Amino acid sequence: MPGPCAVQANNPVSVSRVTREGQAIKFCLPAGHAGQRLLESESVIIPMRNFHGDQWFTLCVSSQVGCRMGCTFCQTGMLGLLANLTAQQIVQQVQTAQELLRSTTTEFSIPGVIRNVVFMGMGEPLDNFEAVTEAIRTLCISREFNIPLSHITVSTVGRVDGIYKLAQLNWPSLRLAVSLTAATDALRNRLMPLNRSVPLEKLRQALMDYPRTRRTRFLIEYVMLQGVNDSPADAEALARWCQPLPVTVNLIAYNPQNPAHYTASSTETIFAFLKCLRAMGILAKRRTTVGQNLMAACGQLGNTELS
Ligand code: SF4
Repeated sequence: MPGPCAVQANNPVSVSRVTREGQAIKFCLPAGHAGQRLLESESVIIPMRNFHGDQWFTLCVSSQVGCRMGCTFCQTGMLGLLANLTAQQIVQQVQTAQELLRSTTTEFSIPGVIRNVVFMGMGEPLDNFEAVTEAIRTLCISREFNIPLSHITVSTVGRVDGIYKLAQLNWPSLRLAVSLTAATDALRNRLMPLNRSVPLEKLRQALMDYPRTRRTRFLIEYVMLQGVNDSPADAEALARWCQPLPVTVNLIAYNPQNPAHYTASSTETIFAFLKCLRAMGILAKRRTTVGQNLMAACGQLGNTELS
């Protein structure tokens, strides 16, 4: 269980923008200035439903404004790092989402609660380690949120130092996701610059060393780029990389940046890739895209006015 938290949970902030597509809601909160420019965090409330018809909401939060990891398929990466968010600013995203869902007076009102929080918005969470872990402590401990570690996911592109630091906290029920997107060093070096200093073998070793429970499954996110990483050979390389680990692979069709640098793999290609992974014993799913028109889908966060 996380130790005591120092973040004041009840400290609301005014929303600067809210947009909605279906039941997905993207909202921005002011996050200081860089020179003359107003900085904003971006968050997305995503409606979820299981086979029994239960409905809840997952909140995708930002840990930074912009990001310095420079992944070539990601809108946020095009901004560079503009600011690290504080723990307070991260917690405020959850608080604001709850208020938006609770409100009965706005057109954005939908009944429900935030049940899961995923650090998959702007930024590399392990690049802002102290603030992110402090925010997680608050979300777990504060009665206002009461979100267990097992409902919180931290997604990294492979900050191995951060993975080992996270391991030392001994929070085995915290969910860990890795944005992989390529399973050979030659390709990953091109798509994700961090891989040049942290190659795939080191990243896999960090996951092998990570404390686990019997229920642990690492989430491996793979953005499907037409003609770049979506061949049967790519699927085979991915399956081999994953094989020693307990994983669930999520295949995500590329969500175009502005301007778009790639094309999304076709649905047929994604299903063929999925079949290949499953044939090699890998648990894999296709993740459906939410909020593409809001520039709120995976890899699309990052106000283009800031770049
Ligand atoms: S994918 Fe994640 S780590 Fe990479 S540039 Fe985008 S926000 Fe940063």
